[in-house]
Amino acid sequence: MTDGCGRTIRYLRLSVTDLCNYRCRYCMPEAGVFKRPHREILSVEECVEIGQAAVNCGVKKIRLTGGEPLVRGGILDICRGLSSIDGLEELCLTTNGSLLPELAAPLRDAGVDRLNVSVDSLRPERFSHITRRGCLDDALAGITAAERAGFAKLKCNVVLMGGINDDEIVDFVALTERKPWEIRFIELMPMGECAQWEKSRFIPAETVLKKVPALRPLKSSGTAARYGVPGWAGTVGLIRPMSHRFCGLCDRIRVTADGKLKPCLHSDAELPLRGLHGSELEGAIRRGIAQKPERHHLTEGGSDTLRNMNEIGG
Ligand code: SAM
Ligand code: SF4
Repeated sequence: MTDGCGRTIRYLRLSVTDLCNYRCRYCMPEAGVFKRPHREILSVEECVEIGQAAVNCGVKKIRLTGGEPLVRGGILDICRGLSSIDGLEELCLTTNGSLLPELAAPLRDAGVDRLNVSVDSLRPERFSHITRRGCLDDALAGITAAERAGFAKLKCNVVLMGGINDDEIVDFVALTERKPWEIRFIELMPMGECAQWEKSRFIPAETVLKKVPALRPLKSSGTAARYGVPGWAGTVGLIRPMSHRFCGLCDRIRVTADGKLKPCLHSDAELPLRGLHGSELEGAIRRGIAQKPERHHLTEGGSDTLRNMNEIGG
């Protein structure tokens, strides 16, 4: 289905929990978030029903996110239910990787096609500092487990933070010499926890091209501008919501863990989906798609959403 601006919407990001075992400084408060009663969070059946209705509206790809989707009870049932929907071409999941040692193979068996693993530093102390609770070895063990389980073309998300991890750009790109991964450098967006951070933390993803001049442009995919060093196994993606607004290419809608459809990550517009079934549910999704705003206003006044990233799913 196309939205009011002529964009074809084919991608749903479904948040299955707002909880997380990490407390990344840019994403979640140190104390965590209020644990909502179970009944306020989408059930396994509701997740699958919303996925089916979205596919009926033209969605071809679903990404499970959070919070940390792998701390969600029933995550494998959600994956099994979604992956068996006729017409869904791709089921993906974004994770901090810490629980992949146990879950990578079961996720593959449950029908997950692709994984993105978020790792913001390759230095153990820095990794623990950024995540407040994480351990780099767990994330790396998760990546190894994912490869063993057959997730070949992993994507690795790195949020660029000036003065925090921008001195590791070369190290991250160097991984692509031997590994067939895509290292995705994401511009930090001023939302929730990091909205008030000093300006120097927000650096353009172009910094990557300056630090690694050997990178050459490749065919872009979706919202990522892609590059690679000729002859190397992997690639580099730049996700540039701040420096290069890509709203004209945005083909996604989002559903929060408490069942609200968000036509845009940065808009405060939300359509409640809970309690709706069949044609009513599809109708609400179609209305949400039709209302998708033309663009965000991140660089003018900041994000219009009052939610933190862990509630919406990055
Ligand atoms: N817990 C999982 C993870 O960290 O991959 C999935 C949820 S997390 C909200 C999804 C992605 O959003 C992560 O790659 C995270 O680094 C990114 N993210 C969170 N807050 C962000 C922000 N303010 N700006 C840019 N990316 C952000
Ligand atoms: Fe958790 Fe992901 Fe947010 Fe980090 S970025 S606190 S891992 S939801």
